[in-house]
Amino acid sequence: MTDPISELKGIGQARAKAFARLGLLSSYDLLRYYPAGYQDRTAASPISALVSGTAVCVTAMAAADPRETRLRQGMTLTKTHAVDETGRLELTFFNAPYVKTALVKGETYVFFGKPERKGARCEMVNPVFEPAGSAGRVTGLLLPVYRLTSGLPQYAVRAAVRQAVDALAGAEPDLLPPEIRQARALCHIGFALRQIHAPDDARSLDMARRRLAFEELFRLSLGLSWMKRGRAAKPGRALGRLPRDEFEAALPYELTGAQRRVIAELEDDMNSGRLMSRLIQGDVGSGKTIVAAAAVLMAARGGFQAALMAPTELLAAQHHATLEPFMRRWGVSCGLLTGKLSPKAKDALRFALAGGGLRFVVGTHALLSEGVSFENLGLIITDEQHRFGVAQRSALAEKGEHSPHTLFMSATPIPRTLAMLLYGELDVSLIDELPPGRVPVKTYAVGEDMRARIDGFIKKTAEQGGQVYVVCPMIERVDDEGNSVSEGLKEAVAVRERIAGLFPGHEVGLAHGRMKAKERADVIGRFRAGEIPVLVATTVIEVGVDVPNAGLMVVENADRFGLAQLHQLRGRVGRGRRESFCVLMAAPGAGELARKRLEMLTKSSDGFAIAEADLALRGPGEFFGTRQHGLPALRMAELPAASESPAALLYEARDAALGLLDADPELKGHAALRASIEDMLRGMRS
Ligand code: ADP
Ligand code: MG
Repeated sequence: MTDPISELKGIGQARAKAFARLGLLSSYDLLRYYPAGYQDRTAASPISALVSGTAVCVTAMAAADPRETRLRQGMTLTKTHAVDETGRLELTFFNAPYVKTALVKGETYVFFGKPERKGARCEMVNPVFEPAGSAGRVTGLLLPVYRLTSGLPQYAVRAAVRQAVDALAGAEPDLLPPEIRQARALCHIGFALRQIHAPDDARSLDMARRRLAFEELFRLSLGLSWMKRGRAAKPGRALGRLPRDEFEAALPYELTGAQRRVIAELEDDMNSGRLMSRLIQGDVGSGKTIVAAAAVLMAARGGFQAALMAPTELLAAQHHATLEPFMRRWGVSCGLLTGKLSPKAKDALRFALAGGGLRFVVGTHALLSEGVSFENLGLIITDEQHRFGVAQRSALAEKGEHSPHTLFMSATPIPRTLAMLLYGELDVSLIDELPPGRVPVKTYAVGEDMRARIDGFIKKTAEQGGQVYVVCPMIERVDDEGNSVSEGLKEAVAVRERIAGLFPGHEVGLAHGRMKAKERADVIGRFRAGEIPVLVATTVIEVGVDVPNAGLMVVENADRFGLAQLHQLRGRVGRGRRESFCVLMAAPGAGELARKRLEMLTKSSDGFAIAEADLALRGPGEFFGTRQHGLPALRMAELPAASESPAALLYEARDAALGLLDADPELKGHAALRASIEDMLRGMRS
């Protein structure tokens, strides 16, 4: 089961390294490396009915011996033709010397390829083929298409997976209890694994997908609920109460109802005698910071220290700048710890934290580093939670000999159903109301035909002293031969050049993830300071960059983003007083559906409604994935059975998981399942 991949036939050290880049180390990993999609090669046609450009299978007899011609530069051309009762098909192959011996005159083959008709002549160039008697490997099937990495061609992955499936699928134990499988008509794991990699037909594939998607959602639900139950037993120290009236009187505005409600939830939770582990979800601008400040005050009132962790230096500094004066008024000292501090300043800060002289610290993940200790840490707050993994979530919680209460804040709107699953181990509070008087960002979904007007808009905004973001999606693609194509970066560079051309004499900034962190921070810093009117960026600006003067955002190829992500991006503008705009440019080839999706954003500014729509349109895969949430990637949930909505399957899986935990809280009767879940949770922590 843990046989290294290099023991498979046809895999040498170099190939094994390429597989490793995809996280595929053993045959077992291959078994679970589900296809990203399928190429449908099931359609068949007689020669007379072939349509130009539509790839199909043709069963025909080779009617001549292939003739090979040498072309320039070592290229070869092999020509022959095949016939059926309805007509003649010309066959042309480039650089395929094997055809000479593989196609035998008088034998019947199944060819798959794209026909081209010119008058009475019908031709296929470079079709794949196999003898009619033993067809089914490359023709007449749903052919799996795997995600690749550079140096790893499609055929190599197919061949390796086929070996793994032959060796392992039959012996794979089924983790789903039989009663759960029966109640939901889910197929056996062995069948599912064989069919997902080599489907007999669309119906079997559907059954396999459903089964595997269910299993993923079930395992994750079960694991997170398991974790939550373990935690519920942990005692937590009571922090203090919030001097409610004084607190509110000190604010320059009225709290919203949602902010009040969530502050009360925190207060109850942190004084209940059990350890708090809570997530605050609130749209961009919903006012999470002041809620966090209230929690810090509660801790301070109870005599405890508090820490606030942000994902970037910039955000940490921003929080410190906002909170320090506020805290001073309550006599709570507030420090800033980032990687930038001089060793001497760092030491002083560490000393003050360890001795208790400093009561509240804001910082980046530098807070997690060795050598930071607290006198009496009562509360840890993590902002923009989705940027941190589950691993970091728990690393923080382990600081200090008493576990501190933990609070996470996230602006990524997630549909309720998914939040329950993603944050299964957390309690969730929602700030589902924006402060009054917010002007929603005016949003337009347009196509390439509006390019000139948008350029004019950028120019006008900048000339009037406003600032503009231009966002390009970062897309990594690997082609069939295993070459990596990083389109996004090229695009961002080109877009910057083009826009710079509109503004001779002005600087147009560029920020992307491949730059050195320092260079990038420098560009973003100068944009914030107003020194650069236009910033072209990949999604590095998504989180928390606060530039009140930014009044326009143009998103290139907007259809490549999820709606929820676009909504978050859009939150970067409209932070100041002036009316602000977001223009979503659909890619030139984007279809009607893509435009429709974007329309949704022009009509709504409710992050949760948008996230629900995104879930319905794109499935839950978008919301999962290690990068976003530190959870194991859900590979199958992205490919739900055609017959079922992903959200429905999610509910079913969660119900089944909770039902099982109620019936067998220790999973005593399900040892293999329990082991697999503990394994998953370990993976999430390390
Ligand atoms: P986020 O939830 O995105 O972190 P912030 O906490 O940064 O939002 O708040 C965004 C802005 O709204 C800040 O300038 C903050 O001072 C302001 N704000 C927060 N709560 C209210 C409120 N109840 N009424 C008016 N303005 C508020
Ligand atoms: Mg915030």
